[in-house]
Amino acid sequence: MKYISTRGNYEQASAAEAISLGMVPGGGLFVPKDIPNLDKQEIYKMKDLSYGEIAYKVLKEFLTDYSSEELEEIILATYNAEGFSHKDIAPVVKLEDGLYILELWHGPTAAFKDMALQLMPHLLVKAVEKSQVDKEILILVATSGDTGKAALEGFKDIDGVKIIVFYPNDGVSKVQEAQMLTTDGDNTFVVGVDGNFDDCQSGVKEIFGDDDFNALIEESGYQFSSANSINWGRLVPQIVYYFATYAYLLRDGEIKEGEKINISVPTGNFGNILAAYYAREMGLPINKFICASNDNKVLTDFLESGEYSTNREFKKTISPSMDILISSNLERFLFEMTGHNSQKINGWYGDLKENGAFKVDEETKEKIKGLFVGEWANEKETKETIREVYQRYDYLLDTHTAVGVKAYQDYLEGSSDNTPMVVDSTANPYKFSKSVLEALEKVEEDNEFRILERLSELSGLRVHRGLKGLEDKDIKHNRSILASQIREGIKDILEI
Ligand SMILES: *Cc1c(COP(=O)(O)O)cnc(C)c1O
Repeated sequence: MKYISTRGNYEQASAAEAISLGMVPGGGLFVPKDIPNLDKQEIYKMKDLSYGEIAYKVLKEFLTDYSSEELEEIILATYNAEGFSHKDIAPVVKLEDGLYILELWHGPTAAFKDMALQLMPHLLVKAVEKSQVDKEILILVATSGDTGKAALEGFKDIDGVKIIVFYPNDGVSKVQEAQMLTTDGDNTFVVGVDGNFDDCQSGVKEIFGDDDFNALIEESGYQFSSANSINWGRLVPQIVYYFATYAYLLRDGEIKEGEKINISVPTGNFGNILAAYYAREMGLPINKFICASNDNKVLTDFLESGEYSTNREFKKTISPSMDILISSNLERFLFEMTGHNSQKINGWYGDLKENGAFKVDEETKEKIKGLFVGEWANEKETKETIREVYQRYDYLLDTHTAVGVKAYQDYLEGSSDNTPMVVDSTANPYKFSKSVLEALEKVEEDNEFRILERLSELSGLRVHRGLKGLEDKDIKHNRSILASQIREGIKDILEI
């Protein structure tokens, strides 16, 4: 299996090269040259397999330069009882006939990013081994909250890697900050930055492109890499859970072999929903994709009009992981939708860079519309959905998942499609305790840890182990710098 660039500016790469590079050096994203197909019977037989066994069947199709032993070892080290607190790894919960929630947050940090970030570090280490670079990998992450902790947990204690996470001192919640600052492992570093998320992100991006600094890092025995979702190594593990979902529904007698399902995905960077699309292309019976957005509904508008425009106000919402105006992985999807036409992609992404917007042709738009439906929920609707679902099913949604459920309801109202629907649940409700509790009752308390306790008292739902007792855990990191000092911060940590 070879990987090519969406911009047509790179010769074929192996999976290991694509993963260790992260992104195509001249711009563009790596995508598989051909999408492998799984035999129908093989898909149905997955109902008798464990999550790890299903993962093996999917990953081996894409990661052909990894040996069976390597893949088995990586999968065993990732999807086990220590890492994930449910035997199904990503369990499917039934709310009623035809409506299911795919819980993607049983990993260590209570966010769905664990599904990929627990596996990807192993892929990266092996990739570097294969390319015979004898340098230590230095992962830099700028985070507005969730990615930082998931990346820290994923890379913690992995040999040959150091990870440094930069977060805005006043830009993350107390719970998120505590999650990061209490991370152990000798190779993890967390740095608070006096500035906002953009300062952290542009600071880190600048360093990736700084030749002098790169040279210094290399001389000192390091090589930069990225744990961002533009890396194929983060996307490929996400394809697995769609096959597992189908297998579990078959196993539990909820669907019949060959029966189609719909998927509703709370979307930000378009990685999760794209993984579902790849699963369909591999042969999984999926009918429609519901792309769910919050107030930052760039994608809803795009799916409606064919015009992708970032020329709009950025809104901070109660589903912050979806507060995104540039959904990076859409580029991969458009590349697929145009039959790998990198000329079109270059044109559109040139327009995006120049004018903040682009418009796809009628043919592409109609092709997308045959598969994807865009729906969105505002803040009020999101909270109402949390309350409604809690009252009706005694099931507690987080704010992101609530957007996905509301999108499903709106879709149902406007269509006569009664295909079984699976809604992706991307975060545990305790991760966003304040907004979730506000949906259920009036909140006067300010302390986030008290709010979490109150939510637990009210709902009786077990507090996720990654969020339990955070307040009493030892703080392991205490670095704080100005946004202008990121280089010095890195040098200080590496002692160079
Ligand atoms: C990252 C994230 C999303 C968005 O996922 P994409 O793959 O970027 O579309 C949605 N919800 C939560 C809780 C997340 O952390």
